Amino acid sequence: MKIEQIEMLGILKNFTYLIICEETGQASLLDPGLVGTGAFWKFRSVLKMIKNRGYELKYIINSHSHHDHIKGNSFFQKRTGAQIINFKTGLRENDLIEFGKVKLKVIETPGHTADCICLYSDKNIFTGDTLFVGDSGATVSVDSNRSQLGTSLRKLIETCPPETIVWSGHNFGKTRTSTLADEQEHNVNSEEYKLKEVSYLLKNESS
Ligand SMILES: [Zn+2]
Repeated sequence: MKIEQIEMLGILKNFTYLIICEETGQASLLDPGLVGTGAFWKFRSVLKMIKNRGYELKYIINSHSHHDHIKGNSFFQKRTGAQIINFKTGLRENDLIEFGKVKLKVIETPGHTADCICLYSDKNIFTGDTLFVGDSGATVSVDSNRSQLGTSLRKLIETCPPETIVWSGHNFGKTRTSTLADEQEHNVNSEEYKLKEVSYLLKNESS
């Protein structure tokens, strides 16, 4: 599995991921989104990368339904024929998203929104806005739930190996990636990984 971490334009510093099976050339695009002007131009450059390398785009996946993670769905769907999949289209816990020899396992992680999922494969986890490098997503949407977010973070820690690489939804940290072990130690919300009831812990709220 090869991972291209592409920082999109805009103040929200979204990461879009192109995940590739190098053996077969099949690929999927995770969270093709950004906000602000220049979106179309940036989407075209990602499309060009896909076409120039001869990848076959099978899926467009969304970690959750916030605008800055789904804005490119129709752009890429129209131009590649890839299928859009996310929680709202029916992805659920332990589902496997398969393209080529890549298998991404769905982990439901409600909290930032009710429809948040993370994707795990071979000591890599794509966390969307559930977990950032150093922080986690805000719980200010109508379907946010801070206590659920704490439970979801703890679930990641408990179910994935500590050396798992964290690929988050925004470039908000000191580094572009980290590991679950790093986050357990250094994340500003790391106390939430340890406690059963965490709704009173509100250390930081970013995106
Ligand atoms: Zn979000």
